[in-house]
Amino acid sequence: MTDLQFWLPRVVNAIDRWQTKFGPYQQHESLVRSDAEIATAITGLTDRLAENYPFFHPHYIGQMLKPPHEVAVLGYLATMLINPNNHALDGGPATAKMEKEVVAGLARMFGFASHLGHLTSSGTIANLEALWIAREIHPDRGIAHSADSHYTHPRMSALLRMESTSIPTDHEGRMDLDAIESELKTGRIGTIVATLGTTGLGALDPLHEIIPLARKYGARVHVDAAYGGFFTLIADDSEQGVASAPYRAIADADSVVVDPHKHGLQPYGCGALLFKDPSVGRYYKHDSPYTYFSSNELHLGEISIECSRPGAAAAALWLTLELFPLTSAGLGAVLRPGRRAALAWHAQIGESGALTSYQAPQTDIVTYLPTRNSLGEIDRVTNKVFMELAAGNPRDQIHLATYSVGTEALAVRGHSVEPDAPTARIFRSVLMKPESEESVPDLISKIAASVRKA
Ligand SMILES: *Cc1c(COP(=O)(O)O)cnc(C)c1O
Repeated sequence: MTDLQFWLPRVVNAIDRWQTKFGPYQQHESLVRSDAEIATAITGLTDRLAENYPFFHPHYIGQMLKPPHEVAVLGYLATMLINPNNHALDGGPATAKMEKEVVAGLARMFGFASHLGHLTSSGTIANLEALWIAREIHPDRGIAHSADSHYTHPRMSALLRMESTSIPTDHEGRMDLDAIESELKTGRIGTIVATLGTTGLGALDPLHEIIPLARKYGARVHVDAAYGGFFTLIADDSEQGVASAPYRAIADADSVVVDPHKHGLQPYGCGALLFKDPSVGRYYKHDSPYTYFSSNELHLGEISIECSRPGAAAAALWLTLELFPLTSAGLGAVLRPGRRAALAWHAQIGESGALTSYQAPQTDIVTYLPTRNSLGEIDRVTNKVFMELAAGNPRDQIHLATYSVGTEALAVRGHSVEPDAPTARIFRSVLMKPESEESVPDLISKIAASVRKA
């Protein structure tokens, strides 16, 4: 493990040395607190932080959550001590350069021949911005998104006063092409939003088939790869990779969103948006009397709907990518174990008899249910196991998450159960930590044992 006890003082010292060059100064007394006061307050904080789930541990397979890599923490901390603002080159000359470099790296990863893009504070803001540009280009037309897309799309469409249409999904949780085409035929759809790695199932919309369809009707294509974008690095159709066709098609889309704070080892506050056509920059035009004077180069604030943004986020990602480059052997090697874990999970889950796979995983998210014959029973057992495994001695805890499904969704996947309730919770596990791979057999056997008892 990268030792923060070793590296943190080195990072702080390096920034201290830089500051010293500017000559001595005294911190104002209003800012000074005694070590005793700080110690008490910090103890208060660390006590309160104990009320958290162990996101770092292989026994946590609940939501899309894990701590950043230690090098991201070091990069963020070093830069935060200076606190550059990537809104303008004046606010963060070094980190604005790093941001442009990492964004160019993301563009290369996606196969964009040209690009205009920047980091954002989140996938939601990145998607909002993509939809805003989509609306500027097709002001009289709305968007169509998967019924399984992130809830941000209908919400952001409402915010932008655009019509949004939900497209039903097939037996693998992917947008249905016939349904897309009939919506495109109405002429009301200006942009199709395809998701690569749906938040619920980790499913991959058939982007390679969606793009030709959209083009036929003059529609744009935006790719929401907030969760799944980095799987591009392992999109090789191999036993430990993901399907290449939808990922290769990103190169032909109009815009794409990816969240480095999900699969890019970053702390929260790091999304990214890329447009293929740099001329969309014209929609951002604005002037302000107090920024943009240091150079004629592009200021990132000129192409972002957000103003202040942490240069530290760009630096943390830049440093991380120095050590985990955007290649199959670099960051790809961090994603493969989770993908292998998901495939192993799907292969092994049925063996116990107590659990059944809901559908085959397309990335590193697995969904499965207690082998019971009514929705009511499935829901009761799922919830009981979910609660039971999360309780007790921390060493024995397993943290799961649930996912709500209806009879129809179960039926199209070949699970015939008595519909004695409108919906049931099943299990959904995000195997996004490479350490998950080692724990698969142990986790399955513990979950199965708990299901048998329930
Ligand atoms: C997480 C996610 C979002 C939202 O991103 P935030 O960074 O949480 O705002 C949007 N779309 C998909 C597919 C996601 O997984």
